[in-house]
Parts: sequence; structure tokens; C-alpha cells
Amino acid sequence: DHYPGRVLRADRGVCTVLTASGIVRASVAGAVLSAAGGDPTVLPGAGDWVVVREWPDERITAEAVLPRRTSLIRRTAGKDASGQLLAANLDTVAVVEAIDPSPDLARVERLLALAWESGAEPVVVLTKADLAADAPTVADQVADATAGVPVLPVSAERGDGLPALRPYLGVGRTLGLVGPSGCGKSSLVNALAGAAVMGTQSVRRVDGKGRHTTTYRELVPLPGGGAVLDTPGVRAVGLLDGSGGLDRAFAEVVALTEQCRFGDCGHASEPGCAVRAALASGELSPRRWESWLRLHREVAYESGRRRARS
Ligand code: GDP
Ligand code: ZN
Repeated sequence: DHYPGRVLRADRGVCTVLTASGIVRASVAGAVLSAAGGDPTVLPGAGDWVVVREWPDERITAEAVLPRRTSLIRRTAGKDASGQLLAANLDTVAVVEAIDPSPDLARVERLLALAWESGAEPVVVLTKADLAADAPTVADQVADATAGVPVLPVSAERGDGLPALRPYLGVGRTLGLVGPSGCGKSSLVNALAGAAVMGTQSVRRVDGKGRHTTTYRELVPLPGGGAVLDTPGVRAVGLLDGSGGLDRAFAEVVALTEQCRFGDCGHASEPGCAVRAALASGELSPRRWESWLRLHREVAYESGRRRARS
């Protein structure tokens, strides 16, 4: 018997899968493992749709991973060069940063590039808004790093700002959270899930044992028909792919560089340099420009290395 299901969690070859007839635990079929050829990013992960098979002897296996609409993948250097699947089939990626202590704009920029690369639509969520004297002002400062992506201050504690997330959690929509550990992601999941799923295995990580750190990725279906997916704290984003995510994350900077008089402008002292003009007028912040230069160099360096390796 075969039927479809959505992976809530994947852990060492075993998937917890939500199906029409409830939650089942399925082991990843040998054929799926061997087809992956050692690339962990193609194995079933949280958010994936899989074909579940129930065997006459009651074994349950995940026989195939259905094509992903989006995939949030963290690239890592060295032996694990293929990277790590953070989540599949997200419609929206929320880059989460706590409003207090002050948000790390460089991290927001990196995570936004990663989010764009996934194919999903990003938003920025500033948690713990109750701790800031003036949340809208901090949100404005963070907006310097987002190229127009909305910045939404929320407080899981008070519930402020949560309604602004509702459009991303409609029927059939999945919102994924990425950000460092401690920024308030699991509190946000709990606040969004409310009492409806409290006490189920979906949220048992915030339990009487006082364990408040998510150590695995997990999809939580919400009462409104959407789902939210927490990822483990992403401390280091790792390497960016250079597949356009960075250009999207710095869209306004890229647009400026295209307005320079000379196509090969070095943005130093060339006449008609749109970047220098924007820096002089204050339209472009020096922080933003430096950030772009740094990440752009990193992507160029990494793709050069990848070419050299292959
Ligand atoms: P995670 O590691 O990203 O999942 O972060 P947690 O949700 O575990 O939160 C880390 C800490 O921040 C905990 O002590 C939470 O109580 C606290 N926290 C989370 N959300 C809020 C909030 O909206 N306001 C305040 N004041 N504290 C919060
Ligand atoms: Zn220029």
C-alpha cells in the first residue's frame, strides 16, 4: 500500500511523516539511500513530500522523495561539501533575529542570500520586540540590510506583531524559521501554534525538562491550515552558492553598480560612478556597501575553488 505524506522530522534514516491517516514513522528505503550516493541533501528532510509504503509485515518505508518546490540548503566547506538540507518546500523563509541584543545585520544579509537561493520568499522577523524601547526604529535600521524584504517585529511573549505573520501561514503554506539559537524561534513556534498543539510531540522540546534548544528540524502543522518549521540554530551560514541569492539580497546595490557610466567601473574614483554618488548622498550606507563587497568576494572565491576542484 502506497500513500503520500509530509515529513515532519527526519533523523538518521527514520522519518516522522504526516499522512492522511495520521503520523507514521518510516525508515528511508534502501533504494532511496543508494540513489542519494552519499549526498545528504537529497535524502528526505523536514518539509519533504514522500511516498510512504506499508508492507504486509507492517514495516513502513519512505520509498521516494517527491520533487521539491524549494530547498533551503546550507553549504559547508571541506569533506561535507554537499551541504545540509535545512528544510524543503518552504513558501516563506523567515530570517529570525532577536531585537535585543541588537540585531546582527551581517548575519541577516547572509541568511537572506541563503533564503533567496532556496527559491522561497524571504521575510525578516525581529523577535523579543517587548525588550526594545522603540521596536519600529530598530526595524528601520534592520531594513538597511534587507533590500526591501519586510521587517516584522514580534513578541512571542506578548503576542505583538504575530498577526502580521498570518499571511505566510494560510492553508497549505509553510513558513520556515532560520536564525541563531536563542533568538526565540521555538518560542515563536509555540506562540503561533498556541494551545492547539501544545502537549503533542510536535512541541515537546519546550517541556518541563527546560530544554529550550531545538536540536532537530521539525515541521509543526498549525490550526489555520499552514505549517511552521523550526531549523536548528544556524550559527555559521557557511558558504554561499553564488546562484543568484546574493544578487537578490543586495538588489539595490546591484542596481546601482549597473548605473555606473563605465561597465567595468571599479567604484573607486571613476567618473560617473553611481555607487560613489549614492554613498556621498547617503542613499547607500557604507556598511551596506562593505557588506556587499565582502560577500561578493567570498562567492567569487568559492566558485573559483569549486571550478578548480572539478
Ligand atoms: P531558540 O533557540 O531560537 O528556539 O530560542 P528560544 O525560543 O528557546 O528563546 C530563547 C530565550 O529567549 C528564552 O529564554 C525565551 O524565554 C526568550 N524569548 C523568546 N521569545 C521572547 C520574547 O518574545 N520576549 C522575551 N522577552 N523573551 C523571549
Ligand atoms: Zn561605479
